[in-house]
Amino acid sequence: SPAADAATASITVNSPTHMGDLGRRLAKLLRPGDLVMLTGELGAGKTTLTRGLGEGLGVRGAVTSPTFVIARVHPPLGDGPALVHVDAYRLGGGLDEMEDLDLDVSLSDSVVVVEWGDGKVEDLADDRLHVVIHRATGDTDDEVRSVTLRGLGARWAGAGLEALAA
Ligand code: ADP
Ligand code: MG
Repeated sequence: SPAADAATASITVNSPTHMGDLGRRLAKLLRPGDLVMLTGELGAGKTTLTRGLGEGLGVRGAVTSPTFVIARVHPPLGDGPALVHVDAYRLGGGLDEMEDLDLDVSLSDSVVVVEWGDGKVEDLADDRLHVVIHRATGDTDDEVRSVTLRGLGARWAGAGLEALAA
């Protein structure tokens, strides 16, 4: 059965820099095996948030939009987990294709962050973190974003998500 919401946080982010800060702070809560699904239209800031996550985790390589590849592995610089950054947009068949990618890391040892994964990768983990990013206004020049984090399952109960809103 689907896991219930264990924790939520809503945060207003005013700039790309602050989105990176949020990613760096969220990284401190993440553990190997975590699945983070990012939802938001093109240009919402999913990759910007992931870049901050990569910095917070301390992984090799700059996080960029994973164009031309479905998944990019960023190995850890220290003894933390690798970051696997997935662009599921072209992942037609969903999870099977993901498992066929032959990544040289195991997903259970990594933090897996997926853009465009809705309806495709949920079966990877019942306990997962959904992050929804909205532009606060219809003005595409506006840098204000609302970010909602929703942790599903026991993993996220008491994990400290709420503190990110502070
Ligand atoms: P996505 O991965 O959702 O398509 P990107 O992170 O690649 O989005 O791009 C977001 C774009 O919007 C960048 O050009 C970034 O500079 C800009 N931007 C403006 N305000 C913000 C914000 N508050 N957070 C994140 N990105 C922002
Ligand atoms: Mg992106």
